[in-house]
Amino acid sequence: AQDKGRNTYQFYAQSMNVALAERLSLESDLRKALERDEFLLYYQPQVDIRRWDVVGVEALIRWRHPERGMVSPASFIPLAEELGLISAIGDWVLRTACRQQVAWRATGLDVSIAVNLSAVQFQQPSLTAHIAEVLQETGADPHKLELELTESTAMQHAENAVTIFHQLKAMGFRLSIDDFGTGYSSLAYLKRFPIDTVKIDRAFVKDLASESEHAAIAIAIIAMAHGLKLRVLAEGVETQAQLDILREHRCDTIQGYFFSQPLPAELIEQLIVNHRRR
Ligand code: C2E
Ligand code: CA
Ligand code: CA
Ligand code: CA
Repeated sequence: AQDKGRNTYQFYAQSMNVALAERLSLESDLRKALERDEFLLYYQPQVDIRRWDVVGVEALIRWRHPERGMVSPASFIPLAEELGLISAIGDWVLRTACRQQVAWRATGLDVSIAVNLSAVQFQQPSLTAHIAEVLQETGADPHKLELELTESTAMQHAENAVTIFHQLKAMGFRLSIDDFGTGYSSLAYLKRFPIDTVKIDRAFVKDLASESEHAAIAIAIIAMAHGLKLRVLAEGVETQAQLDILREHRCDTIQGYFFSQPLPAELIEQLIVNHRRR
């Protein structure tokens, strides 16, 4: 029995070492990923439900690791925040999205690009000055850029958010609250935020067709947002049935695999052009 205990301990110790080694190697690779040019942006269309036209795209970062292949942002963004790398990565994302917008504009493609801001970026006092610099350097049009902040970040730093949102709005940006419904929202704050769009989290869109409580929440969010004169986007729309219900309840815009997965810039460009030609 003693032997067995020791083996179990050794097994745990070993797997802990493996997990730790794994994490350390991922950390050290992440530190080098920027200079090695391993990040890229994918774009996912946002479609106006009534006109069935692509009105914007969301920029979603990808890490093409030389050995691991594509690493999901859901796993490396939190790590980047912890390691203090998120500012540099966020800066790269914003710059790349701005350059893409300028390039698309030159070919006559006028879609707005949404960019995710992390909680850490949002707390930096230099955020707005820095964003202004990127705009100036790239020549991007802020009216065609949307900045996304999650509901939980916005509400956790609500007073701060009111101030920063007003600054960003004055610079011409469109603003949206991401993952809406997953955190605790104060309606009083929501009303004070000069935002344009509320993005209903995928969790509430998922069971939309099954008349669950989640469906009731999604429908309530649409009504509430419209009451506040905000545009509503539903995330993670995968089926015609979900789309039909969203349309019935007058949701404005959808994003999800039903229309398209996130794709590299060239493919998105083709997809939008072909869709408009149809
Ligand atoms: P998010 O901002 O909520 O982005 C939406 C996520 O849902 C994306 O995952 C997208 O690929 C996925 N998605 C879209 N449509 C569907 C669908 O129909 N079904 C399903 N199952 N999933 C769908 P992705 O690209 O893996 O990104 C995950 C998260 O990582 C993002 O969630 C965002 O929080 C974060 N992230 C991604 N790019 C950036 C970035 O540039 N900066 C920051 N700070 N965070 C980012
Ligand atoms: Ca987002
Ligand atoms: Ca989201
Ligand atoms: Ca999310």
